[in-house]
Amino acid sequence: SDQPTILFHDGNSIPQVGLGVWQTPNDTAVTAVKAALSQGYRHIDTAAIYENEQGVGEGIRASGVDRSEIFLTTKLWNAEQGYDSTLKAFDASLKRLGTDYVDLYLIHWPAPNRDRYVDTWKAFIQIQKEGRARSIGVSNFYPEHLQRLIDETGITPVINQIELHPDFPQTEARAWHDKHRIVTQSWSPLGQGKLLENPVVAQVAAKHGRTRAQVIIRWHIDNGLVVIPKSVTPSRIAENFKVFDFRLDAEDMATLAGLEKDGRRIGPDPKTATF
Ligand code: NAD
Repeated sequence: SDQPTILFHDGNSIPQVGLGVWQTPNDTAVTAVKAALSQGYRHIDTAAIYENEQGVGEGIRASGVDRSEIFLTTKLWNAEQGYDSTLKAFDASLKRLGTDYVDLYLIHWPAPNRDRYVDTWKAFIQIQKEGRARSIGVSNFYPEHLQRLIDETGITPVINQIELHPDFPQTEARAWHDKHRIVTQSWSPLGQGKLLENPVVAQVAAKHGRTRAQVIIRWHIDNGLVVIPKSVTPSRIAENFKVFDFRLDAEDMATLAGLEKDGRRIGPDPKTATF
């Protein structure tokens, strides 16, 4: 299909729009993943802590889409950080997913209170060498955490998945990532649905004859971000993927930039989170 992809510094690429499956139980994950793949999605974002890797794997196999055409991401949970524990947790994720590789493996949080993310990253480097993760990256890392991985291992993550929505645009982090060839991926791209009630978003949507969700997803695409909106409702899953035949103009971008003044983080601050 003609969906956009973003190139990693390791030579692999990622479809720019994927399906997020946080807070989705196994049985629902099967139907959501099947619906997404039938609509043309080729990128699914899960994590060990979501406890639905089994459902995601089942949905992929039930879809009839070849595994090789699908970009599959999972994440290592904080409690499993450390070299040996990471290798073990990765084996368990592959087993639950029912696949022999993932396209992308992420350290879910830096968890600086545990101070194990460098050893964890060394295990990730080993997993990639073995071909069992095609690409390796991180999530919720601040530049200081990224810099430490680079200094201590010489290997730069291909991507950093962080909380990012139009009213919380993470301008500084994105500039730092760009300088280091790290792709930025947006989690909670719709502000967990709250941004859909915003009148400014409604105004831009009306101008384009699009839905509010489509306008926000398009904002991420037009900013060069990888975006993983979540829905378990087939009609919304379809709606969120019909975003490749229009684009936002400079006026829309300026209008949406105005949201930043009222915006803030929804999730925890990775620097102080202690889970
Ligand atoms: P989101 O911003 O994607 O919002 C999802 C919610 O928006 C849905 O539950 C639904 O209520 C609503 N919605 C979606 N499409 C809609 C539509 N077309 N019309 C009306 N309402 C619609 O929130 P999210 O799930 O928090 O984030 C997306 C994904 O990001 C997650 O599923 C997960 O994969 C990932 N994520 C990662 C982290 C991390 O720490 N790495 C943290 C949070 C989320």
